[in-house]
Amino acid sequence: SRTPLTLLGTGAMGTALARVWLAAGHEVTVWNRTAARAEALAAEGARVAASAAEAVTANRLVIACLLDDTSVGEALDGISLAGRDLVNLTTGTPAEGRARAVWSEARGARFLDAGIMAVPPMIGAPGSGGYVFYSGSAELFEEHRDTLAVPAGTRYVGADPGFAALHDVALLSAMSGMFAGIAHAFALIRPEDIAPKDFAPLLVDWLTAMAPAAHQSAERLQSGDYTRGVVSNLAMQVAGNATLLRTAEEQQVSPELLTPYTELMERRLAQGHGDEDETGVVELLDTRRS
Ligand code: NDP
Repeated sequence: SRTPLTLLGTGAMGTALARVWLAAGHEVTVWNRTAARAEALAAEGARVAASAAEAVTANRLVIACLLDDTSVGEALDGISLAGRDLVNLTTGTPAEGRARAVWSEARGARFLDAGIMAVPPMIGAPGSGGYVFYSGSAELFEEHRDTLAVPAGTRYVGADPGFAALHDVALLSAMSGMFAGIAHAFALIRPEDIAPKDFAPLLVDWLTAMAPAAHQSAERLQSGDYTRGVVSNLAMQVAGNATLLRTAEEQQVSPELLTPYTELMERRLAQGHGDEDETGVVELLDTRRS
């Protein structure tokens, strides 16, 4: 029979998760700070608990999907977690994940942190590419992996409870740079008679073609050799950046999304690394060294 579970938080993501677990035949007890927001799930078979304490008492497996780490602390304040398995699907930082693990264990619970790499429509949609990073108690993960796999794919990334958040936030940070680039590109074509809808497929194809450069950077970071087999050297790229910046000026577009990166490349070049590719910029970002 399917594992019964408690879900704290029925916002956009919590509601999507609850629906999929209910549809798969799990008994689901939900709690939400604003009770009205949990009511819709009652019609779909969820038990609505009157308090977070009641929800935590209902099941051994307790899953939190709240706004942020502070909400988790507030929702569970003063509630015994003895014998519970707490899975935290709330987005947080690595340090918050580690502190929450210590906090949970001190209250008698096993703890698994998580980072959701999906938006609500991707939950319960196999083939959508959505999945969840997990880290922390390997025993908890093994015991509940089938239940956790119901709404989305699972990737356990280690016993360090900070690793799920670290993987999550590293991917989100890369995405942020990509979105910044997309915004700049659209701003460049905006003054002209080029339809964004015609331009978008070109953007997607180009970014897709360039993304595998991450594999080469990874190889260089692991070998420490930033020069072997370089086809687009830094000296050439910095010269190319001047063209990007002049074009922004011609199109009357602010260069503010480009300059943080172009300036780092210039600094690396000035340190005598013109024959490398841009991977060495990682060294400049490491504030433990500079
Ligand atoms: P919503 O804003 O829809 O829901 C937030 C939830 O947190 C609500 O249940 C809200 O309760 C609750 N909450 C906020 N503050 C507190 C508090 N102090 N005490 C108790 N409960 C509180 O957010 P989502 O459901 O979209 O997001 C939930 C988590 O999922 C977040 O960590 C988010 O980063 C993560 N996530 C979301 C994605 C998305 O696309 N939606 C994608 C990937 C991750 P109330 O109804 O009472 O306000």
